[in-house]
Amino acid sequence: MRARPQLKPIAVIRRPSEVILVGRALEATYLDDTDGSTSALLDLLTEGKHTVGELPAAMGARGYTVTGAEMAAAVEALDEVGVLLRAGSDDDLAPSTRRRHESNLRFYDLYAGMRRTSADHHRAMARADVLLLGAGGMGSGVLQSLIGLGAGRIRLVDCDTVEEKNLARQFAYGHYDIGRPKVTAARDWARRYAAGDTVVEPIHEEITGADAVRRLGAGADLVICAIDTPDDVHLMVNEACFDLGVPFIAAGLQYSMLFYWSVQPGVSPCRLCLELGRDEQSATMPELATQHVLRSTDKVNRATGPIAQLLAGFVTLEAGRYLTGTDAPVAAATYHTVELTDGMRTSRESWARHPACRLCARTAAVAVA
Ligand SMILES: [Zn+2]
Repeated sequence: MRARPQLKPIAVIRRPSEVILVGRALEATYLDDTDGSTSALLDLLTEGKHTVGELPAAMGARGYTVTGAEMAAAVEALDEVGVLLRAGSDDDLAPSTRRRHESNLRFYDLYAGMRRTSADHHRAMARADVLLLGAGGMGSGVLQSLIGLGAGRIRLVDCDTVEEKNLARQFAYGHYDIGRPKVTAARDWARRYAAGDTVVEPIHEEITGADAVRRLGAGADLVICAIDTPDDVHLMVNEACFDLGVPFIAAGLQYSMLFYWSVQPGVSPCRLCLELGRDEQSATMPELATQHVLRSTDKVNRATGPIAQLLAGFVTLEAGRYLTGTDAPVAAATYHTVELTDGMRTSRESWARHPACRLCARTAAVAVA
């Protein structure tokens, strides 16, 4: 292997006879270092200058006799615990891409390894095709974050025009956009901001049924539901996404509680499962998730800028998991909440597949929990 392993910039604690690596999620890895060879190897890996084949000679120069097989096994084990990168793996991206996406690439480092690099994660995002339903508080925020990440194409659907009250939280628009369709104003913002890196397709349309989602979502990798009408919009999108075979994410604000969740058709239980099982699951699920799925009475929009941005952040992080495979989606069939009026208390509750769900019954891979 010509690739050069490099230790990530994690905390390395050196003790007599022991080295502790503290990386992702504060997980500590304890390594024996009785003869000092582990420290020597970690020093070499910090430099990231040597291929695995070159490591025995480099260790030899430091007074340690090791075999190629031992070095290959050590590098494999360190990669397994997620502390290695492939040195220089950004180099096959254009210099302008490396500059523009520096922070994104360093974020992907958290999840990258010898096999899948940060540049690979970036390329996956740059190819991503997203159907974004809604260009309001959450939708316009998600649009901005996805463009920051360099998503390839976003089909943006909304039927509203920009109003003065939107300026409290919809930062893709300004006072100069008042009266314009949100989708064209958002496209213009995207052009100014990202000079065409992300193609934003404005679709000025009201979503009234699953058919529209199926039509607009053909070929998409992910659907994001940032609308709350009609009342059964989540079940509608759920059904359409089963037909399209793509995951979707939904989120919103109910009174004082932020929530988000996602569905991976054929892999996770779906939204219809939750609806069918709401009586059984009401013991553990938040009240709003189980009892008011179809009957939202809170039509007042009290989402301020920070609330819309929080929601957009949670949703875009989940979108990144689906689109780049950094790690498994955290909200698949799992209802995440943040309660604003209770010290930002968070909760997460998963729901199970319902045996009577006609959609999940189509896909054998979803286990009945
Ligand atoms: Zn289901």
